Amino acid sequence: MAQKSPLRSDRHLRNFVGGSWVPPRAGRARPNINPANVTDHIGDFPESAAEDVRTAVEAARAAFDEWKSLGPIRRADYLSAVGRLVEERSEELAQAITREQGKLLREARQEVRRALAILEFTAGEGRRLNGVTTPAEEPRTFSYTFRSPIGVVGLITPWNFPLAIPVWKVAPALLAGCTAVLKPSPLTPLAAALLTELCWEAGVPPGVLNLVQGDVEAGAALVANPAVAGISFTGSVPVGIKVHAAGAGRLMRTQLELGGKNAVVVLDDADLDSAAEAIAAGAFGNAGQRCSATSRAIVHVNVRDALLDRLVARASALRVGPGADPASDVCPVISAERMADCLAAVAGARAAGAELCCGGGRAGEGGHFVRPTVLKDVPWDCELAQREIFGPVLAVIAANGFDEAIKIANSVEYGMSATIFTRDPARIFEAVERFEAGMLHVNRPGLGSFAHLPHVGAKLSQFGPPECGPQVWDFYTEWRSVCLRY
Ligand code: NAD
Repeated sequence: MAQKSPLRSDRHLRNFVGGSWVPPRAGRARPNINPANVTDHIGDFPESAAEDVRTAVEAARAAFDEWKSLGPIRRADYLSAVGRLVEERSEELAQAITREQGKLLREARQEVRRALAILEFTAGEGRRLNGVTTPAEEPRTFSYTFRSPIGVVGLITPWNFPLAIPVWKVAPALLAGCTAVLKPSPLTPLAAALLTELCWEAGVPPGVLNLVQGDVEAGAALVANPAVAGISFTGSVPVGIKVHAAGAGRLMRTQLELGGKNAVVVLDDADLDSAAEAIAAGAFGNAGQRCSATSRAIVHVNVRDALLDRLVARASALRVGPGADPASDVCPVISAERMADCLAAVAGARAAGAELCCGGGRAGEGGHFVRPTVLKDVPWDCELAQREIFGPVLAVIAANGFDEAIKIANSVEYGMSATIFTRDPARIFEAVERFEAGMLHVNRPGLGSFAHLPHVGAKLSQFGPPECGPQVWDFYTEWRSVCLRY
């Protein structure tokens, strides 16, 4: 299966279309900059236009019939081969993630392990892509159902998990028998180029996975292309809604994984040390740039001050610095715009009556470093408590008991993850029932779930079939029913 990438050292400035690294037609480029050191220019990547997308979709369309006819068990062999290469080159991948996205190297290594687990899980699913047999209404008749790939899919990804999110779209798309055009975030093009290269080296045939770098123009052209049967999109709510609306007129399928404003509820019987540890991990890991990041701690008034003491002590002790420095605890945010947005949101919350307990400013020069920030007395309905900030900023909100805490947790338009800390089993079950969120956690950090569980949200956080678990086949395949007289 192995085939050497023709352009291993020259993947900058190129898209990957029909098995070749090709320059964008218009020749426009965008620099890729290290968020920890803005003088570190990683390379220039294509700013693709509609024409580049059109040729990539044509290549995917041309490869579809043969790829589909292989069947899921043989297609799984390719994913296993990709997994072996990811494992072999895991350190190179982790270093690339840290350099272009900024996260700590240990977080980047975790991301590579997550990508590997998804590849392993998805390859295993190749032997379980079942339909059902059913009784027939007529004699000498056999009836059954099976899943068929929907066709060419567009995969549009954000920058915060530059390897894992492309993997959790590419792997099920290919296993299902779809062919794909991947359009990653322009802020993290390198990890997607490396993944594409590994798929090629693993023998994935020309046209099955195509890569088009770029931003809005390329993304919108992919969504508008009538040969694209479905778009799996991860990103912000406003862009997700645009993507869905653009395809709705031709009944294009969408799978939208969107933003979050996630709450951890802490009741007055909770283990406060473990709650503080989990909240800090959820709020400041990857500098708060996760769809499942903890951005609100909703705390029973009786324990609010005791929890705040612990949170502020932890946040103040964290060292902000480059992801590549083993001494760093919190990485930079992705861009100058993100940093400015975080700081403006903190100022807005203070104007609305919140009190700054720690952080709230920049940490050092040369990169986009924001101090881990804790605010208390944050009004539950102010902008900071309602809008996704996507930075290391935690709002602490006091609640007068369980019912009020659940009500505040559910007061946002998002529903990605929700968490409760309590020792009371009845409260645990009641919270799990009442939280309006997709990924629920009890007495542990409120982050994403495991590689084989659905990555799923409620309300504006998600639309369409979830990603990652076996539910993902409901996006990449459609059902056939068969009645056969014998
Ligand atoms: P974004 O919405 O700005 O961009 C996402 C992708 O969409 C990028 O590749 C971008 O180039 C592309 N795009 C932009 N405009 C487009 C258009 N009109 N048509 C088609 N494509 C277009 O999001 P971002 O800043 O890259 O990522 C951060 C967001 O992603 C946050 O809201 C975060 O919560 C969310 N996110 C969600 C999940 C999840 O699983 N739910 C996971 C990670 C990140």
